[in-house]
Amino acid sequence: MNYMDEIQKLFPSQDGNKETRDLLVSKMNQLITEFDKLKNPAKLTLGEMPEYTEDYYNQIISTSNVPEQGITLDETIEEILKLAKGHRYPNSNYLANATPLPNIASILGNLLMVLLNGNNVWDVEGAAAANAEVRITSMLSKIVGYDPNQSAGYTTWGGQGAVFNSLRLAIARQFPEANRTGIPNNLYCFCSELSHYSLYKSVEATGIGTDHLIRIKANRDHSMNLQDLQQKMEEVIQNGGIPVYVLATMGTTDTFGIDHIREIKNITTSLEEKYNLPPIYIHADTAMGGMYTFFNDYDFETNPLQLEEDVCQVLKGYQSLFKDVHLADSMVFDFHKLGQTPYITSLFLIKDKMNLQYVDLDPTETPYVGNRGYGSYHTSYTLECSRMGSAIPIYASLLAFGIKGYQQLLANYIRVNLEFRKKLMQAFPNVAVTNNVSPVTTFRFYPEKVTWEEEVNGKATYEEIEAVNKYNDNFAELIGLHRDMIYFGSTKKQRLVEARNTNTRVPIYAHKFYTVSPYTTVQDVERYIDFLKHFMDIHSKELVLI
Ligand SMILES: *Cc1c(COP(=O)(O)O)cnc(C)c1O
Repeated sequence: MNYMDEIQKLFPSQDGNKETRDLLVSKMNQLITEFDKLKNPAKLTLGEMPEYTEDYYNQIISTSNVPEQGITLDETIEEILKLAKGHRYPNSNYLANATPLPNIASILGNLLMVLLNGNNVWDVEGAAAANAEVRITSMLSKIVGYDPNQSAGYTTWGGQGAVFNSLRLAIARQFPEANRTGIPNNLYCFCSELSHYSLYKSVEATGIGTDHLIRIKANRDHSMNLQDLQQKMEEVIQNGGIPVYVLATMGTTDTFGIDHIREIKNITTSLEEKYNLPPIYIHADTAMGGMYTFFNDYDFETNPLQLEEDVCQVLKGYQSLFKDVHLADSMVFDFHKLGQTPYITSLFLIKDKMNLQYVDLDPTETPYVGNRGYGSYHTSYTLECSRMGSAIPIYASLLAFGIKGYQQLLANYIRVNLEFRKKLMQAFPNVAVTNNVSPVTTFRFYPEKVTWEEEVNGKATYEEIEAVNKYNDNFAELIGLHRDMIYFGSTKKQRLVEARNTNTRVPIYAHKFYTVSPYTTVQDVERYIDFLKHFMDIHSKELVLI
C-alpha cells in the first residue's frame, strides 16, 4: 500500500482534475452551508454561545492533543465549526468598532491568495501578489495625490505596522548610520493625546523610549491642538532634543477626529527653517479615516450620487482635510476597517520610494531571495520576511466596488449616524452626543441633568465627572450582558477634560455607536434606540432601588 496516496488526498490536485476540485468545492460548500445555518439577523452571535466559565481555557488546555490518527474532512469541518459558535458576526447588530464584514470579492481574492500561496517577499515566489501590490500602490497613490512613479507601498501588519514602519523610515532617513550604531538618545516623537497606541508601542520597540513621546492636547473636535504642538516642539528643540517624527491622526479610533495636516506641515517646515533642522517626518495615521480619500475628487456641486445635503456637508468637511494628505511622508490604508475586507489587509504607502534605501538590506544579507539572476521585485526593506499576498484581496475589492461603490458605502455610514444622533436626542432627555458627525457617534448619559458643556469647558469637578463616568460604566456593563442581541461599543477615554478642582486631566467615558455593516441602514436606527431605551428604563429603576 502506498501511504502517500492517502496523504495526497489531503491536497488540491496537480493536474486540475475534476474529481479533486469537486471534493474541495463540496467541502467548502458544506462548511459555508453549516456556517450559514448559524446566522440569525436578530442576533449578533452565531449559534449558541458557549459558557465562558472560570476554567473555560483551562479545560481547553487539558483536553487538547494532536490526534494520533487524522480525522476525516467531514469530522474536521464539524470540529472547526464548533469554534464559530457564539462568535460575533459583523451584521447590523454589531455597533462596537470598525470591524468589517469581508465582501465577496475580497473573499475570492483571499481564496486565490491561498490557492497560489505566493510569498510576497520576492516576485519569483509571489508573482501575483507582487503584481497586485504594485497595482494597488499606484491606484491608491493616484487617489491621495502621491506621484505614482515616485511612491512605494507594501502590505504589512496593520495600521500599527504602518506606524512602526514609518518611524523606522523617519529614524533611518535622518540618521542613516543609526542602523549600525544604534539610535541617538535625544530623539522625540509627537502625537495627539487621542492617537492610537501604535506610536507608544513603536517608540518602545525602536528604543526611543516612551518618555520621548510627547502627547499634544486635543481640541474640542478631537483634532490635535496646533499651538500646543508648536510650543512642545520648540521646548524639545530648545532643550537639545531632536524632533524626528510627527504622527497626524486622520480619524481617531474612538471619535474620528481629524488632524489638520497642512497646518502640521507648516509648523514642522517653519521649525526646520528657524532651527536649521533636517526634514521632520510626518506619518498620516489614516488607518481609520483613509478610505474617505475616495471623496477627494467628488464634485459636491453636481453631486453625481445624489447624496443628501447633510451627508454632503460632512463629506465636504472631510474632503477639505483629506485632500492635503499627500503632504504626509507616508500613510496607510486599513482596508480591514472601513474597506470591508478580511484581516489583515493594510497597505503602507510611502510618498517617496527613495526613503526605502535607508532601510534596505545589502544583497549579501539576503542570500535566499532576490539576488539571483531572475525576479526584480524583492522587499528586503520590510520588517517581515515571508509576507502574505494580501494585496490580492484588496485589489479584488477595489475592482468590484470601484470609486463609486466605496463612496456609496462610506456615505451610508454617515447617513446612518446622522439619523442615530437625531433619534437619540429625541428619545433621551439625559444624553449628550460628544463627537462630530462621522461613522461613529460617541454619547454619554447623565443620571439627571446633562452637564456635558460644563464638563468639556472645565467647569465640572473631578468628583462630578467621575460620578457620570461611573453611571455610564454601569450602563455599559448592563447592555454588555445582552451583547448577543446588539453590541454597542464603549470607551473609557473618549477624551480628556480639565476638572475645576484638580490639575489632572480627567478621561471621559462614553458609549460608541460604530456602524460599519453594509446591512446597517437608516431603517435599523429605531431598533437600536429601542434597545437603549429598554435598558435605560431598567438602569434608572435600579438606581432608584439603590
Ligand atoms: C485601528 C487603528 C490603528 C491600528 O491598526 P491595526 O490595523 O489594528 O493594526 C492605528 N491607528 C488608528 C488611528 C487606528 O484606528
